Amino acid sequence: MSDKVATRDKLAVLGGTPVKTTPFGTGKRFGLEEVKELIEAMEQNTLFYHFGNKVKQFLHDFNELYGVKYSVAASSGTAAIHVALGAAGVTVGDEVITSPITDQGTLIGILYQNAIPVFADLDPHTYNMTPESIEARITERTKAIVVVHLAGNPCDMDPIMAVARKHGIKVIEDCAQSYMCRYKGRLAGTIGDYGCFSTNDFKHISTGDGGIVTVNSGEEEDYYVTHAFADKNYNRFGNLFNRDLAYLAPNYRMTELQGAVGIAQLKKLEWICNRRKEYGDRITAGIQGLPGISPHRITEGGESSYWFYMLRIKEEELTCTREEFCEALKAEGIPNTPGYIKTVVYLQSLFQERHAYPGSHYPFDLTGITYEKGLCPTAEQILDTAVRLSVDEFYTDQDVEDIIAGIRKVALHYQKSN
Ligand SMILES: *Cc1c(COP(=O)(O)O)cnc(C)c1O
Repeated sequence: MSDKVATRDKLAVLGGTPVKTTPFGTGKRFGLEEVKELIEAMEQNTLFYHFGNKVKQFLHDFNELYGVKYSVAASSGTAAIHVALGAAGVTVGDEVITSPITDQGTLIGILYQNAIPVFADLDPHTYNMTPESIEARITERTKAIVVVHLAGNPCDMDPIMAVARKHGIKVIEDCAQSYMCRYKGRLAGTIGDYGCFSTNDFKHISTGDGGIVTVNSGEEEDYYVTHAFADKNYNRFGNLFNRDLAYLAPNYRMTELQGAVGIAQLKKLEWICNRRKEYGDRITAGIQGLPGISPHRITEGGESSYWFYMLRIKEEELTCTREEFCEALKAEGIPNTPGYIKTVVYLQSLFQERHAYPGSHYPFDLTGITYEKGLCPTAEQILDTAVRLSVDEFYTDQDVEDIIAGIRKVALHYQKSN
């Protein structure tokens, strides 16, 4: 064995040669395609979505791609979820079942409707809410379920929809991380009653900020209700001067500038998702069967567009901790983070102190709900043992091979039988 091979086998964190010696692939997300649309938007002499054509075109293209009849634009993914909740009739004192591992944007609309978040536990390897845990959390007060397709991986929608239909509960899909994500051939976002997407700058496609809500009943009346909830409850289709508003709704309008960028971004979406799917699935194939590693499992019948890749460490099979594993992998030139969000959502002080609004315990005191550690044990274990890796459409084949080689090197070094 030559010295070169010897130093290559030695962990970089112990003075060996790192696996990754070339920079990761990068690319431009925006080009003249977006600029051309923006100029056209300006030349309309209005940036108001209802008078211009850019938001309308953006939604038209989105509806075509997704095979849905109606969707509504919003100012963010958070807004899109709030709009869906409002359209679903979620109101004061209702319970909404959702995931404890998600972005805050999943929770904000629930709390602004003065509804009460209830957390379901997750599958240990897909990191998505299980139908069993959802059903166990249903009470008389349950009005809706917000399923989160985490990291591009679909939830197990058939049994979830069956539970919801059985109890007469609306299903809202949080697809902020899950564009072109398929479940048994159907696109996530078209299966529940509403599908919510984000076009913030960190998602598969970006309009700076923005969101979309699909109205999956295909009923015109549901579309009007959803549309109005994103726009102060104004009725833009009937008598515009009828401003006798029946109830409160926010202004979450998208502007023509976002719509313009969205039109060009949408044309790149399938390519972006296909690349990410290929890379994510290759990482799984490359690290399958390694000691101490549980790959990111895709839901049966699902296809993921990997907003990120998250494996789990089985510390009982390794001589290192999760943190040591992450450090060693980083030293090999493979960026990663231990876990995802810092804690499960319900252990944040907002839920621990029950302060959605300063100086008030409303709406939590409507039911007296409390959020204890151990409420969703699997979710807590996931965050304690997860390692998150970036997946990017601009990565090269070499980058993906290096990620796999890095994980293999670190796992084999720390395997217990050594
Ligand atoms: C990004 C994200 C949101 C919120 O989207 P914004 O556009 O940032 O408001 C909601 N849910 C999940 C799961 C997300 O990742």
